Amino acid sequence: MPQPRVDVLVVGAGFAGCTMAERLASAGRSVLLIDRREHLGGNAFDEFDAHGVRIHRYGPHIFHTNSSEVVTYLSRFTAWHPYVHRVRANVRGQLLPVPINRTTINTLYGLSLDESGIAAWLEQHREARSPISTSEDVVLNTVGRELYELFFRGYTRKQWALDPSQLDAQVTARIPVRTNDDDRYFTDTHQAMPADGYTAMFERMTAHPNIHIELGRDFDAPRDRDIARNIVYTGPVDAYFAHQFGRLPYRSLRFEHHHLADCAQFQPVGTVNEPDESILHTRTTEIRHITGQAHTGTSIVREFPQSDGDPYYPVPTRASRELYLQYQNLAQQETHTTFVGRLAQYRYYNMDQVVAAALTQAKQVRCP
Ligand code: FAD
Ligand code: UDP
Repeated sequence: MPQPRVDVLVVGAGFAGCTMAERLASAGRSVLLIDRREHLGGNAFDEFDAHGVRIHRYGPHIFHTNSSEVVTYLSRFTAWHPYVHRVRANVRGQLLPVPINRTTINTLYGLSLDESGIAAWLEQHREARSPISTSEDVVLNTVGRELYELFFRGYTRKQWALDPSQLDAQVTARIPVRTNDDDRYFTDTHQAMPADGYTAMFERMTAHPNIHIELGRDFDAPRDRDIARNIVYTGPVDAYFAHQFGRLPYRSLRFEHHHLADCAQFQPVGTVNEPDESILHTRTTEIRHITGQAHTGTSIVREFPQSDGDPYYPVPTRASRELYLQYQNLAQQETHTTFVGRLAQYRYYNMDQVVAAALTQAKQVRCP
C-alpha cells in the first residue's frame, strides 16, 4: 500500500523531535512523527512502576534552564512542580555536598573555615594549569589533587571509561566549585519538574491534528525518504550516514530500578554519587525527592555505565570531535534533512538546550 505523503517526517520523539513536530504542525505542516521505541519522550520518558511510583526509565531527568523562551514554550504543555536538586557524594563514609562547597571541605577535613578561608584553602591546594584543555585540568586547577581523586577521578573513569585527562574540559566544567554553603546542583533561574511528568507533557505537545504518530517504527532511509518532502532527524548522526567514516563513540548506561516497600525515605537527597572506582555504579537516585510524589514506599535507580546499549552520551574528546566534523559536513549538504538534538548534533546537551535548538531549527525548515 503506498504511504501517505506528508510535509515532514520527524525521526525520534524525544525533546528534539516533539518540539520540532509541534512547531511545524502549528505552522500548518502535516507531520509524521516516528520512534523506534514504543513510547514518546526519548530518554526523558517517565512512567509509573508496578508499585505506583512515577519513575524515569532512562535515569533521572531534572529540568533546569535560564532560558525564559524555553520555559514559556514548555509551559503551554505543562504546569510545574518546583524542585531544587541536591546531590551528595559518598566519600570516606560520609555524604558530602557536590558541587564541592564550604561544607564539603570543612566536613572532610574537620575545619571551620569561613568563605575567605575556603578561598585561601583552595588557592593553597589547587594545581594551576595552563592551558585548561582537559577535564583533569579543570578540576586540578580549581581544587587540587586530593579532592580531584576523591570526587572526580573515579566517577569520571567509570562514567566514560576514559581518564579525565582524555576528556574535553567541558565535561567536568559542568560542576562548579563554591566557597559558600550553596548546595544546589544547578543554579539556573528555573528549576522544576513537569507536574504530571514528562510523558504527559509530550502527549500534549503532540496532540495536534496535523501530527500522526507511529511508535515502534525504525527509520528506514531508502523507504522513508519518499514519504516526506522534508526530514527532521534526531537519532545518531553517524547511523544516518551508515557509519561511513566509522562509528562515533556514545556512552551507554544500564539502569537498575528497585522498589522499597514501606520505606518513607531511602537517602537524604535526590541523588547520591559514588566516586569510588571500586563501586560499579556512579549514582543512586530516589525519584520521589524529585517528583514530590506521596507514597508509602519509595523507588530508586542506580546507573551502571557501559559501552554497549542505547546511545545516551556523546563522548567529548578531540578524536570524536574530529570524526563528528566529517559527519557534520555531510549533514550540511543534506538540503532536505534537518539534524537536531543530542545525538544528531553530537553535543552534550541538556534538555533545555535541545528545546532551544529545536525552536531555532523549526523556523528554518523550508516546505514548498
Ligand atoms: P533522545 O531523548 O535521545 O531522543 C531521540 C529519540 O530518537 C529516541 O527516542 C530514539 O529511540 C529515537 N531514534 C533514534 N534513532 C532512530 C531511528 N533510526 N528510527 C526511529 N527512532 C529513532 N538533561 C537535563 O536537562 N537534565 C537532566 O537531569 C538530565 N539527566 C539525564 C540523565 C541521563 C541518564 C541521560 C542519559 C541524559 C540526561 N539528560 C538530562 C539529557 C537529556 O536526556 C537530553 O538532553 C534529551 O533527552 C535529548 O533529547 P533528544 O530528543 O535530542 O534525544
Ligand atoms: N563528575 C564527577 N563526580 C561527581 C559528579 C560529576 O566526576 O560527583 C564528573 C563526571 O565526569 C560526570 C561529569 O562531571 O560525567 C558531569 O556530571 P553531571 O552530573 O553533569 O553528569 P550527567 O548528569 O550529565 O550524567
